[in-house]
Amino acid sequence: MAAYPGPDTMNAPLPQHQHARFDTQRLELSARLRQAVEGEVLFDAGARGRYATDASIYQVDPVGVLVPKSPADVTAALALCRELQVPVLARGGGTSQCGQTVGAALVIDNSKHLNKVVDFDLDAMTVTVQPGIVLDHLNAWLKPHGVWFPVDVSTAAQCTLGGMAGNNSCGSRSIAYGNMVHNVLSIDALLLDGAQARFCSEQCMDGAPARIRDIVQGVRAIAEREREEIARRYPAVLRRVGGYNLDIYHPQSPRPYTQDGSVNLAHLLVGSEGTLAYTQQLTLKLAPLPAAKALGVVNFPTFYQAMDMTRHIVGLSPCAVELVDRTMIDLARDNPAFRPVIEKALIGEPEAILLVEFAGEDKSEQLAGLARLVELMGDLGLPGSVVQMPDAAEQKALWDVRKAGLNIMMSMRGDGKPVSFIEDCAVPLEHLAEYTSRLTEVFSRHGTRGTWYAHASVGTLHVRPILDMRRDGAKKMRAIAEEAAAMVREYKGAFSGEHGDGLVRSEWVDWQFGPRLSASFREVKQLFDPDGLMNPGKIVGSGKMDDATLFRFKPGYRVIPLTPALDWSAWDVQNDPAADTVSAPGMGGDPAGGLAKAVEMCNNNGHCRKFDAGTMCPSYRVTRDEQHLTRGRANTLRLALSGQLGPDALTSDEMRATMDLCVSCKGCKRDCPTGVDMARMKIEFLHQWQKKRGLSLKDRLISSLPRWAPWAARLPWLFNLRDTLPGAAAASERLLGFSAKRSLPKWRRDTFLPSARSAGRDAADVVLFADTFNNYFEPENARAALQVLQAAGYTVHIAQPLPDDAEPKRPLCCGRTYLAAGLVDEARAEARRVIAALRPLVARGVPVVGLEPSCLLTLRDEFLVMGLGEDAQRLAANAYLFEEFLAKELKAGKLNLKLGPLPQKKALLHGHCHQKAFDAVKPVQQILALIPGLQVELIESSCCGMAGSFGYEAAHYDVSMQMAELSLLPAVRKAAPDTLLVADGTSCRHQIADGTAAEGGLRAEHVARVLQKALLQN
Ligand SMILES: Cc1cc2nc3c(=O)[nH]c(=O)nc-3n(C[C@H](O)[C@H](O)[C@H](O)COP(=O)(O)OP(=O)(O)OC[C@H]3O[C@@H](n4cnc5c(N)ncnc54)[C@H](O)[C@@H]3O)c2cc1C
Ligand code: SF4
Ligand code: SF4
Repeated sequence: MAAYPGPDTMNAPLPQHQHARFDTQRLELSARLRQAVEGEVLFDAGARGRYATDASIYQVDPVGVLVPKSPADVTAALALCRELQVPVLARGGGTSQCGQTVGAALVIDNSKHLNKVVDFDLDAMTVTVQPGIVLDHLNAWLKPHGVWFPVDVSTAAQCTLGGMAGNNSCGSRSIAYGNMVHNVLSIDALLLDGAQARFCSEQCMDGAPARIRDIVQGVRAIAEREREEIARRYPAVLRRVGGYNLDIYHPQSPRPYTQDGSVNLAHLLVGSEGTLAYTQQLTLKLAPLPAAKALGVVNFPTFYQAMDMTRHIVGLSPCAVELVDRTMIDLARDNPAFRPVIEKALIGEPEAILLVEFAGEDKSEQLAGLARLVELMGDLGLPGSVVQMPDAAEQKALWDVRKAGLNIMMSMRGDGKPVSFIEDCAVPLEHLAEYTSRLTEVFSRHGTRGTWYAHASVGTLHVRPILDMRRDGAKKMRAIAEEAAAMVREYKGAFSGEHGDGLVRSEWVDWQFGPRLSASFREVKQLFDPDGLMNPGKIVGSGKMDDATLFRFKPGYRVIPLTPALDWSAWDVQNDPAADTVSAPGMGGDPAGGLAKAVEMCNNNGHCRKFDAGTMCPSYRVTRDEQHLTRGRANTLRLALSGQLGPDALTSDEMRATMDLCVSCKGCKRDCPTGVDMARMKIEFLHQWQKKRGLSLKDRLISSLPRWAPWAARLPWLFNLRDTLPGAAAASERLLGFSAKRSLPKWRRDTFLPSARSAGRDAADVVLFADTFNNYFEPENARAALQVLQAAGYTVHIAQPLPDDAEPKRPLCCGRTYLAAGLVDEARAEARRVIAALRPLVARGVPVVGLEPSCLLTLRDEFLVMGLGEDAQRLAANAYLFEEFLAKELKAGKLNLKLGPLPQKKALLHGHCHQKAFDAVKPVQQILALIPGLQVELIESSCCGMAGSFGYEAAHYDVSMQMAELSLLPAVRKAAPDTLLVADGTSCRHQIADGTAAEGGLRAEHVARVLQKALLQN
């Protein structure tokens, strides 16, 4: 049987003919894996494509993917891979920046199932975990015990302990706690040949199997032989993560690897990027959670001074010293939410600030640290330069700003992107100032620039020059890397100081450690992995960093021409980093009109693999599948749009399945650092799909609801039969796909619009936009809103079609149901009716107020990308949710609403996803807080799971309920019986009632109804 290519050639993507050669082998591996394991075996092109990238610039098609259900699955898979000579690549969150998590191998994704805490010993301050556990989850689990695992990497919400050990990761507070290597006590490892052992201190390994003991002896012999070379070649800085840690025998790190100076073999596996063995579980050293923190923000008149003085500040033994440069400060100032936070940290117009954190048990000690910082800065000639932040909430807000600044930088549009390849060089602090200013000069010589941030304390400043990897980026990358490397050598620093070697830096291992140690690394690899099948081509046996055949955007990368239904021209731009300019929209040369470039914005950083109760990404939170993740969807779209998944991939069943569980919550629109807006992309996908593959009867029915709704309102008893006639619900499931387990919204005869008393257009100072759902299903909400507005003294006009509208009697509609089916032309027609009807009012500046978040916010979102011109923009600028309007008036001191107390003293609020995406939850809280004596609590919830018609569909019922059960339903069930439940979304209210059927079906209310009840009649 033909073997897969050997280590040195391993990472080159196979040409098509060669792929064919290995197809039989792939087939055999996948067939035999299916027999041997319980977990998921994913070998189709789409799944492989989703695992072909990490957060680096590379893309390599894996042989296949295994999502193991148990450690036994992994053992079986490794045995098969050895037999079939297929390489193995372990994977956690896939957030690596250097390409160490891509390769033509069987990818083993530990993150879905192998994520448990195995053992915990508070007295010994240790915890043992499986490799796929996410750092934040572990720390949340540990928190009640007053301890944490303190290697606080920025990707804590996504990265796994297995991946952190693989990369020897390090966090912002590494100066206080060290890197992974300083905090791992043992690793239970499995070798490709089935040998298994706990790697720990030399003594504890005496009882290991003979094969393992041979390895240990072999490694020791190599290290002994190379003692002098190790001392000569290993940079003596804390942040050195390149190569193998052969220096466990002759430590070069300024921080000892072990407390007693013993040799721990687990530390050899740390940082080995999965090239030696598979980590089955790890035992970690814990630290007490610091009870007190104090933050000092030092303001510097020049960047150089900030860098030059860092070493003196570090002398005060802070826990972190983090840099924010002028560009980041300006970015934060441009953001209305962050401006007040950053302003508080600034004194005048600094060129850079350093965030200096002191942490420990005793608050007074931390405050004393702050006082010493103030004194030091005076001594250094910068008196009055420190803003003191003893308050925890203020500190957190400022740390959040630092993170957000990076995100804004990553959202740069155009083909030039900040590229990570020298992002984490570490230099001794005394050279930091010179290093940064010389490198800045190198960037400008190469026609680019970079923004500096992060870990000043350890001389590891992050910087990503902006390069266009589709054009001259590779050439510039090498040139800049060479100049940077020369400086790093001159300053006796480490070229790889945080992110590992991977594909981008393994080539530099030889440069950093010299030929003797490189040869020794190969010997180590040979001892562990004689077949060369464990993540080949990383650390040893590597190719070139600028081998363009490995790039995500390889030479010849092409986008298939396509006419999108929505306007994506804002993404279709080119940028010039040197001049800091961006071309006009539509000038980027994207044959897909900007859609491809919008999709390509995903840089795989994995931020969407969040589990906290934000909104991104609910389908991932319940499935934990890469396919049902924003990143997975963006990757599949990118591959389809560039023809890498074969012809017609955009409208394939695979693509449909990938988009299927996206509930269009717009969580990614808000949370994705690079602005990937999958809800909008789903509209575009559905548009292309229905053009080619047509619409199901169910989709046709739901999308055209606003058209037939007037008929249903005339004969509500008939249209409501589905829920009352025995067998009708089951028939609707069989014939149309509506879940029989669901009730449907009830049609009403007493709809809002016909009966509502509307002021004339000319008299109005507010327009009320009654959406389809609140008009036909819950007219009491619209009535309540009208009454509240009128009680507050507004003259309200109710939005109606113009007399010359083609259907003057049919209510206006935002077109949301059409958009949800991809029927963009129909949605545009509805939008035109709305715009025409509201144009004269909007021209007078009359605010347009709506109740249903998904409808009203369509006016502010999708209306702007349907080619509707300036009228749409003016309307968007004038459209408010009911609560936003009231909150705006309140802020302006114009709200005259007399409210009295309610019988209920507490309100529990669930925000609709689109409210969250548009930052419109706070206004609900502000307005409810006007009710005397009402305490308002926000449920930390993600999508309710209903999401328009999504949850009504039989195919989605289970996922829909799982989403609701994540946090929303448990929270409302726990609420006291006299608590008000508030939810502005029609579907959210329905989901709460359905999901609590066992408790009698709890009823949530629109905020307008709550205010109506609180109105003081005078
Ligand atoms: C925006 C951003 C910020 C970042 N900030 C930091 C930071 O502050 N500090 C930092 O150190 N890094 C940082 N990183 C890099 C990365 O997030 C970390 O290195 C992280 O710890 C990797 O975890 P992961 O689970 O994603 O690992 P993966 O990328 O999945 O894997 C990392 C390596 O470990 C190997 N591996 C994974 N599981 C196993 C196993 N079971 N057995 C053997 N080998 C295994 C993989 O093969 C791979 O070589 C950042 C990345 C991004 C995109
Ligand atoms: S979709 Fe956004 S958050 Fe997710 S990986 Fe891509 S860029 Fe990151
Ligand atoms: S819109 Fe929501 S469900 Fe869809 S990808 Fe974005 S976060 Fe996930």
